[in-house]
Amino acid sequence: MQRKKQIDGLKSNKFDVVIIGGGATGAGIALDAATRGLKVALVEREDFSSETSSRSTKLIHGGVRYLEAAFKHLDRTQFSFVYEALHERGIMINQAPYLSSVLPIIIPVYSEFEKLYFFSGLKVYEWMAGKRRLLPTTLLNRSEVIKYFPLLKEKNLKGGVSYCDGTFDDARMNLIVVLTAINRGAVISNYVEAKELVKKNGKIVGVRVEDVFSKEEWVIETDVVVSATGPFTDSILKMDDPDYDSMVEPSLGTHLVLEPLYTPPHMGLLIPKTEDGRLLFVLPWQEHVILGTTDVETKTEFHPKVPDNDVDYLLEHMGQYYKKTPLKTEITSKWAGIRPLAKEGVFGSTASISREHVIRITPSGLIVIAGGKWTSYRKMAEDVVDEIIKVFSINPKSKCITKDIKLIGAERYKFEIIEELQNTYKIDKSIAKHLIQTYGDLAFEVAKIAKDGYNEKIVDGYPYIEAEIVWAIKNEMSQTLIDLLSRRMRLAFLNQNKAQEAIDHVCDLVSKIPEYESPMSMDILKMEAMSRFKYDV
Ligand SMILES: Cc1cc2nc3c(=O)[nH]c(=O)nc-3n(C[C@H](O)[C@H](O)[C@H](O)COP(=O)(O)OP(=O)(O)OC[C@H]3O[C@@H](n4cnc5c(N)ncnc54)[C@H](O)[C@@H]3O)c2cc1C
Repeated sequence: MQRKKQIDGLKSNKFDVVIIGGGATGAGIALDAATRGLKVALVEREDFSSETSSRSTKLIHGGVRYLEAAFKHLDRTQFSFVYEALHERGIMINQAPYLSSVLPIIIPVYSEFEKLYFFSGLKVYEWMAGKRRLLPTTLLNRSEVIKYFPLLKEKNLKGGVSYCDGTFDDARMNLIVVLTAINRGAVISNYVEAKELVKKNGKIVGVRVEDVFSKEEWVIETDVVVSATGPFTDSILKMDDPDYDSMVEPSLGTHLVLEPLYTPPHMGLLIPKTEDGRLLFVLPWQEHVILGTTDVETKTEFHPKVPDNDVDYLLEHMGQYYKKTPLKTEITSKWAGIRPLAKEGVFGSTASISREHVIRITPSGLIVIAGGKWTSYRKMAEDVVDEIIKVFSINPKSKCITKDIKLIGAERYKFEIIEELQNTYKIDKSIAKHLIQTYGDLAFEVAKIAKDGYNEKIVDGYPYIEAEIVWAIKNEMSQTLIDLLSRRMRLAFLNQNKAQEAIDHVCDLVSKIPEYESPMSMDILKMEAMSRFKYDV
């Protein structure tokens, strides 16, 4: 998948719809529109998922917190919102099972009341998922909780409640939604920024865009522009009319990554209410542990930095429940992301689809989607494309089919193909497992490249191999070292030092791939990656 071909496509066509933003929301809309037969383009100013969509807690979830709020306020909308997300959870796991897995999560309880309270609530959570339920909610006694979490403080511990959600690789999921959309006819490029909405008689007729690397500008013709820019929604809204009120309330969430000491490999822990009323997750992810998250007001910015206060907050609160407070030196990686929360006030005046996401259509014809969560990306996309079809009187060739779609890599995937992969290519089991869980049935293609001489690990202690770099350059529109080490491979999100260590090796390899057209000098790409991975990702 060459970016140049996509850029040529963006220059030479008129589109039914142009989407601004290549995070989960924009990618989902591109896939939905393409599969309904619309001619669709998408531009992303940086890399796919480089903002919020690669910085999540990695949960595919209905939202236990919302269920509690629904009970407390007897709020039917909140119930339907959890119901919908639980339904979407099942669909999303099914769309790309190789990128996700079922994750039991334990809530430790410290009184009989808590035990009953969480068990009954989470039983309802399980039932609400209907035929898409994962594993049953169960009660655990004190010794079972201690067996799974030996580092948990035992004082006053009465037992636990185990419930289930899904966990996934957010950046790779985003990428394969993009690649599946391209396979279905969408024209999509990263590193193309929307600069201006072009209008005639007050109505949108195109978007002026710029290739971030070459600085070339052109207009993509279309009557329908969708802003799916998450935390950056207001900047596009103000491009349309500087007087519009803002629609998004940005809130920053931090995650820390630790060595896998604090959870078993396939079970997470949730502290439902810290002393200041927040949720604290301690979750296994890719042989590490993620600790998160915070929720603080912020200003919108690209690549938000992890505030020192958030690091202290997370470690300190984990220490209140664990016998051992993790040290700062144990943190192997950290990131912050901005939640694109839709502002309360905008609901009344807009085409409100649910309390969580909001679709607004401006008089010039700009469609803006804000809010939502990763788990609901498909439903948000369906709602947006339904609105487009209605408002612009478009006749789609097909109805929405994304509920049943298999994303690329998922068509022939089942975990058992790992044996075939190992036998055919004689590769180590841990690498075969990693390839299968990263590329699904395309793992065979990556293994073939490895067999042709690209089988070295890029760094000790992690299963990433050289063949993945070749694959990412040729097939995944990877442009920079940061794209490669943060999102095609998740090394930087797991271990910043190891990602820094890998830079020279990756750089040498990339320079030898004939298909790679470096967007800038390799020295600049190296420096950029070095400085990014130094503090956080
Ligand atoms: C800390 C945290 C934890 C979370 N955890 C979970 C979770 O576990 N499960 C879950 O379901 N949800 C979770 N979420 C929510 C979820 O991550 C977001 O709802 C989702 O990723 C938002 O996707 P998006 O595409 O709307 O925004 P983004 O991913 O931010 O994408 C917007 C894109 O628009 C691009 N853009 C902006 N301006 C322009 C322009 N002018 N031209 C071109 N492109 C432009 C940006 O570069 C960006 O890539 C979490 C969110 C946060 C912050």
